[in-house]
Amino acid sequence: MTKSKRALLKILLMTPKPLVWRFARTYIAGDTLDDAARTIRELNGEGVCATVDVLGEWVKNEGEVQFFVDQYGKTIDRIVTDRLDANVSIKPTAMGLAIAPDLAFRSISAVLERAQKHGLFVRLDMEDSPYTQATLDLYFRLREAGFEKVGVVLQAYLRRTLDDAAKLADAGASVRLCKGIYVEPRALAYQQFDTVRAAFVAAMEILMKGKGYTAVATHDEWLVFRGQALARALELPGDRFEFQMLLGVDPALRRIIVGQGYKMRVYVPYGNGWFGYSIRRLLENPKFATHVVKNVLGMGPASGAAAKA
Ligand SMILES: Cc1cc2nc3c(=O)[nH]c(=O)nc-3n(C[C@H](O)[C@H](O)[C@H](O)COP(=O)(O)OP(=O)(O)OC[C@H]3O[C@@H](n4cnc5c(N)ncnc54)[C@H](O)[C@@H]3O)c2cc1C
Repeated sequence: MTKSKRALLKILLMTPKPLVWRFARTYIAGDTLDDAARTIRELNGEGVCATVDVLGEWVKNEGEVQFFVDQYGKTIDRIVTDRLDANVSIKPTAMGLAIAPDLAFRSISAVLERAQKHGLFVRLDMEDSPYTQATLDLYFRLREAGFEKVGVVLQAYLRRTLDDAAKLADAGASVRLCKGIYVEPRALAYQQFDTVRAAFVAAMEILMKGKGYTAVATHDEWLVFRGQALARALELPGDRFEFQMLLGVDPALRRIIVGQGYKMRVYVPYGNGWFGYSIRRLLENPKFATHVVKNVLGMGPASGAAAKA
């Protein structure tokens, strides 16, 4: 993370929550499952499928873990009863990974059992580096336990990712590839934009040449192009890859990709635990973040136009 982003992070963490919410709501379906269902229906109407995230992470007690297990159960039931074209994404630390790997295994298994009954797919999101190996271990343990409709995420910025990609490609895994969003030290993660892009392309090639399914998660049009060109060169059938984007980020690019006939899935977060997620999104969008900071510093009213941009 650059020095300016670190400074921005400090300011955002001091920003009053209502002000952050004013800008952050672009990225979030809303507080409730009804909000998520409405957003998914709209996306489905545009020929886009979804993956639903119940907002929350780094849970520190078992009671809270049970809340997430229940909420994911309700989310799966709603996807089924409303016949939505969607699956779910889970943050392992919301399922207890920060407490104990066994707890995370049990709680994710409970969600997977519910999902499996309906043939629904579940993806484990990838969090910051203290959880990388633990998340991959969880993924392989779930596969060994017989769960098939489960996938994982790799972050191109991590130096270890090409090795992980090779293992997952060989295991026929469904992998979402993204750049990575957390603040990581140079010893573990590439810090330069061009290096991360190059690492993304290299990992994408390993995954697409492997036996599994590749979800190319990016709003970087250069990488979208590289993904399309690679899939074409490999003659990869449409049921072996998809593109993914976040709710609220570059809908114009999303429409272009859908218009080209590619499968597109949008990440739809909902729930009360929106603050940490929103701060990460705001850090990625200097335009929004600048408006927040200007307001915090009393340098002018928040611009509604910027919030809609
Ligand atoms: C579906 C999906 C799932 C993800 N899951 C994970 C995960 O499990 N673990 C993880 O670490 N990371 C995850 N990420 C986040 C990812 O790692 C990146 O941080 C994020 O996608 C930005 O990188 P980029 O590839 O879009 O490229 P960038 O170069 O960051 O962005 C490309 C373009 O998109 C614009 N853009 C990017 N973000 C925003 C924004 N918030 N608001 C407005 N414009 C924006 C940029 O301004 C730029 O023009 C996920 C991303 C997606 C799309």
